[in-house]
Amino acid sequence: MSHPDTTSYWQATYPIAPLGQALPAEVDLAVVGGGVLGAATAYFAACGGARVALLEQKGVAWGASGRNGGFITEGAALSYTSAIKRFGRDTARAIWQVTCENRALARQIIGEERLDCWYREAGNLKFSLSESELAEDTANVAAMEADGFGAEMLTRAQTQALVGTALGPMIRGARYASYAGLVHSTRLVGGLAAAAQTRGAALVEASVTRIEHGKVTTTAGAIKAGAVVIAANAWISQLVPDTRDIILPVRGQALSYAPTAPVFGPGMGAAVTPTGEYWQQTLDGSIVIGGARAVRPDKDVGALRHDTTDDVQQGIEAVLPALFPALPPLQVTRRWAGPMAFTPDYVPLADHAPGEPNIWFAGGFCGHGMPFGLIFGKLLAQAALGGDVHQLARFGWAGLVDVGKVGQVGCDQVWSGG
Ligand SMILES: Cc1cc2nc3c(=O)[nH]c(=O)nc-3n(C[C@H](O)[C@H](O)[C@H](O)COP(=O)(O)OP(=O)(O)OC[C@H]3O[C@@H](n4cnc5c(N)ncnc54)[C@H](O)[C@@H]3O)c2cc1C
Repeated sequence: MSHPDTTSYWQATYPIAPLGQALPAEVDLAVVGGGVLGAATAYFAACGGARVALLEQKGVAWGASGRNGGFITEGAALSYTSAIKRFGRDTARAIWQVTCENRALARQIIGEERLDCWYREAGNLKFSLSESELAEDTANVAAMEADGFGAEMLTRAQTQALVGTALGPMIRGARYASYAGLVHSTRLVGGLAAAAQTRGAALVEASVTRIEHGKVTTTAGAIKAGAVVIAANAWISQLVPDTRDIILPVRGQALSYAPTAPVFGPGMGAAVTPTGEYWQQTLDGSIVIGGARAVRPDKDVGALRHDTTDDVQQGIEAVLPALFPALPPLQVTRRWAGPMAFTPDYVPLADHAPGEPNIWFAGGFCGHGMPFGLIFGKLLAQAALGGDVHQLARFGWAGLVDVGKVGQVGCDQVWSGG
């Protein structure tokens, strides 16, 4: 049975103020989409003194950014060793470096703007559930350490010390990133959008239907814009049709459990099903957990939907009892789904729209938008307003590999929170 469109734990525990209704006549930059990327882009552009309008069809953090796991890790959706194999070591290192800059930027902006978003660098544990996974995780840690990205392998006993309930027999050890961040997603995105507004950005409820010749047409009227950044992730192909076969929507599902005594300090991930699961215990003691796409035959690739399904929800509910048999029964408080967007090479795409030097876009974060959202927002704001674009270049059309393998998008990737 399918449940109707659902509100996430983050959206329910931090409702964001409604958007304005009045469009300015003319801006330097129009940003389409009010998720983490759009809010960050509007914030950095407004900080630079530009006249900015953020145009969002439903509400700030209504999309994936308000429905996710709240992990701000480092790296892309594929493992570091897979990235080296696929792109070569220099490119893999450069991609990871961008996400390290994202973390530094998140820390800086959250501090400067005093964003009360429950940000903490509580670390990230990715459990190894078999000998072969243990070997893979060990190889990953070695490759990351060799390139200066901190990570360590923990034995089962060391792992147990970081978890407040007995580990089940499946857990052999874990990859640990002590610096990884956790956040309350809507508090972060709502705070960023409000900070952009304080610096003069207009936040408007408007669905963008067309962008051409410096004119942005929306359901709330038209606006003249010197440049446009499209931050619509799973919806991008509606505005940049050339991304249709490259950035595919993928439904992700999650649920929250009622507050319990502290059990999980770090963010955690494991591949109980092949596409992976992830969870964090929030500051009010609730547990937010998602994943289990693999229980559906199509793994929900191509689904731009917000309804939940019983098979995935049951898959998610099976995870913690399987890994931690001593955990007392947990009570589900909310269930939700959200639209992720995947690329064939598991690295986001960011560039200007073909033939449109003043229209920029970024998307296809493959369930890992938080490690890119702030830094991409800063780089896109710079690019769209005529600044330096070299750091974005490796995420452009030219850097995209394996386009022919689009059919495999999202089918085998493990979301491990790191
Ligand atoms: C269940 C789930 C768990 C996840 N867990 C994590 C995690 O823990 N860590 C992590 O890094 N990532 C996670 N992700 C992925 C992450 O949430 C996304 O990568 C990230 O939020 C993308 O941000 P965005 O701003 O690009 O897109 P979104 O947040 O999806 O924002 C796009 C916005 O554009 C708006 N929009 C679309 N079309 C139009 C239009 N025509 N006009 C106006 N507005 C429009 C939408 O309404 C939407 O609000 C998860 C995703 C899901 C669904």
